[in-house]
Amino acid sequence: MSHATARPEIPAARYRERMDRLTALTEGRGLDAILVGVGPDLEYLTGYRAMPLERLTMLVLQTGRDPAMIVPTLERPDAERAPSAGTIALTDWSDGSDPYAAAAPLLDPRGRYAISDSAWALQLLGLQEAAPGTRYVSMTKALPMLRAVKDEDELERLAVAGAAADAAYMDILKVQFSGRKETDVAADLAEALMQHGHSEVDFTVVGSGPNGANPHHEAGDRTIQEGDMVVLDFGGIKDGYGSDTSRTVHVGEPTAEEQEIHDIVRAAQQAGFEAVRPGVACQEIDRAPRKVITDAGHGAEFIHRTGHGIGLTTHEPPYMVEGEEHVLEPGMCFSIEPGIYVRDRFGVRIEDIVTVTADGGRRFNNSTREIQLVA
Ligand code: ZN
Ligand code: ZN
Ligand code: ZN
Repeated sequence: MSHATARPEIPAARYRERMDRLTALTEGRGLDAILVGVGPDLEYLTGYRAMPLERLTMLVLQTGRDPAMIVPTLERPDAERAPSAGTIALTDWSDGSDPYAAAAPLLDPRGRYAISDSAWALQLLGLQEAAPGTRYVSMTKALPMLRAVKDEDELERLAVAGAAADAAYMDILKVQFSGRKETDVAADLAEALMQHGHSEVDFTVVGSGPNGANPHHEAGDRTIQEGDMVVLDFGGIKDGYGSDTSRTVHVGEPTAEEQEIHDIVRAAQQAGFEAVRPGVACQEIDRAPRKVITDAGHGAEFIHRTGHGIGLTTHEPPYMVEGEEHVLEPGMCFSIEPGIYVRDRFGVRIEDIVTVTADGGRRFNNSTREIQLVA
């Protein structure tokens, strides 16, 4: 099955640029080549959105050679339609033959390979058996920032996905909350995301009242009531790229305490945003909002990292977390999503996707961060 989408195609030259850049990264890292199985890395490098099958599909990127890819014979027509296909040497293997024997000639028998995280264990074991002298390391471990810096085509798609999520938020402010179940509002959110052009909805968190105090709560049977804080966290894929935003609304007038906690989270989110510029370590984007929340006396109630990268997937490097010393570079895109979770009572989270520019940051989510009152 091919995954036809309406998005304008990224040109073949761009894919070749990405493959060449990745191949160049193997130099000086003791790697002979990079092996990429089906998944977001393969899509990023080739534009080929292969079916996630147990049958072996693998791209081999090696210095001094054209990119090579081995595919199942029955998938070959789809692989040939990928935008980058003209720049890749394709080989195929048929059902009933040994795919690993077919792949072995593409490998150096004593080679050290970085292999993509989404490659199946079954396939890695098959390669190890067919070429016992080869060694493997995790591609994410060797090259964690591979997809972290977005090119122009990607930035444009992420901006459009962010704007669509904002439009979905504006729609949801108009729906009835009190007297309806969280799952009903979650269904409205999903519908709004699709109406604004998402092809896939990945999550629609509706955490009302005490459920909002659990950051992992998605949406359940609880009936939303007057006086509830409601955490909304939603996103998915539009034109191949992710959206992810959170806003916290209140049913009717908030109490002074609720308003205050919302104000603290909003100030924290702003502090995170203002810390963004090239050369700053990722952990600083965690520290800035955490300081605001801790200084306000709620440090123990901010129980998760501040953010994660976004691109072809909605969670990927770089992570905005204590201990992450990679520095920000222009073109990186990630969430800034501090929260305060008041146990058994309510939660507040505010999240924008932000990209690093030459001298600061730019938000892809621009809907109001002030507390909005819903019915
Ligand atoms: Zn309330
Ligand atoms: Zn989110
Ligand atoms: Zn997020």
